[in-house]
Amino acid sequence: MKYVVLIGDGMSDKPLKRLNGKTPLEAANTPNMDYIAKGGTTGWANNVPKGMPPGSDVAGMSIFGYNPKKYYSGRGPLEAASLGVKLKKDDIAFRCNLISVKDRKMKDFTAGHISTKEAKKIIEKLNKHLGTKDIKFYTGLSYRHLLVINKKLVNKKIITVPPHDITGKKIGKYLPAGKGEDLLLRLMNESEVILHQMKSRATTIWPWGQGAAPKMPSLKKQYGKKGAIITAVHLLKGLGKILGLKVINVPGATGYLDTNYKGKAEYALRALKKHDMVFVHVEAPDEAGHEGDVKKKIRAIEDFDRYVVGTILKATRKTGYPETRILVLPDHPTPIVKMTHTMDAVPFAIYPFPVSSFQFPVKGYNEKEIGKSKLKIKDGYTLLGKFLKGKL
Ligand SMILES: [Zn+2]
Repeated sequence: MKYVVLIGDGMSDKPLKRLNGKTPLEAANTPNMDYIAKGGTTGWANNVPKGMPPGSDVAGMSIFGYNPKKYYSGRGPLEAASLGVKLKKDDIAFRCNLISVKDRKMKDFTAGHISTKEAKKIIEKLNKHLGTKDIKFYTGLSYRHLLVINKKLVNKKIITVPPHDITGKKIGKYLPAGKGEDLLLRLMNESEVILHQMKSRATTIWPWGQGAAPKMPSLKKQYGKKGAIITAVHLLKGLGKILGLKVINVPGATGYLDTNYKGKAEYALRALKKHDMVFVHVEAPDEAGHEGDVKKKIRAIEDFDRYVVGTILKATRKTGYPETRILVLPDHPTPIVKMTHTMDAVPFAIYPFPVSSFQFPVKGYNEKEIGKSKLKIKDGYTLLGKFLKGKL
């Protein structure tokens, strides 16, 4: 048996006036996901445990079958894994943004989506002037970088704030607080001087999301499956690496509405020949949700259905492919009206449904239809095991 998990990031939503009370999933034409829901098991999964941030990293951990409460140690360590930086036992990894502050307010947490080329020069200079054997900067992409500090200098429980949460606010109240704050504040101040000299649009660094390397058993060890992941999102690539998944890069995968949907499906089918299971993640519906753009969200959902779900469904139902089970779900909702993630449960559908399973007949894959299902997975991270064991 082979297994495919198809993740439409942020797909689920709330009913909208603009859509006559329908949700984007309901309004979109999704024959393939409807087919999966009709011939399968449907229900709801809570991917974000209470009190945790509803990000794709936490929710993704649940989808991969790992309890975020037990394993999540911050965004920094995932960032490190995605950059191929091996953390040592005593390392604390911070996500390190290049940001723009004006009048002591958070003006732009992306420093105008600074280019990787410019950022690389900055990070190299910061490393040269501020780096020591216990403090190291690593270049990532655009405004997203990494700062690794030995735990003798900083406590991993130091309070830091995600810069995207305080846009337009005075930064004074949100600076690092706790053991190691003096060091972080010094690094921020000194980076300010260096960036000023470099005449960059970025005005300072902003360290946050810190943690030590998570100790997670591989997917092979935990579930006995050899897996691969296809995603454009570096955090999920990092998580995949930590779990021992093969990270497959697809040409033209952008993480946006112009992504190479069909290519992702085709690479997934190829990977399925060598692996027991493949995760395919598509970011586009989430991006449309953040923009509050209904039309784009519906288009992203329809493209995901047609080119990703459709391609995989069609190929795996043909003879010549091994028997395959498919799970479709979002990681978290990204409702149009909120323009950001929420921690609500998400609708899932598994095809085909096992003989022993309880089934609630539904007509399609959307919040209203799946609302008929009484199946609720309170701890979303247990869904994968049930899916693999054929219990659902
Ligand atoms: Zn998002």
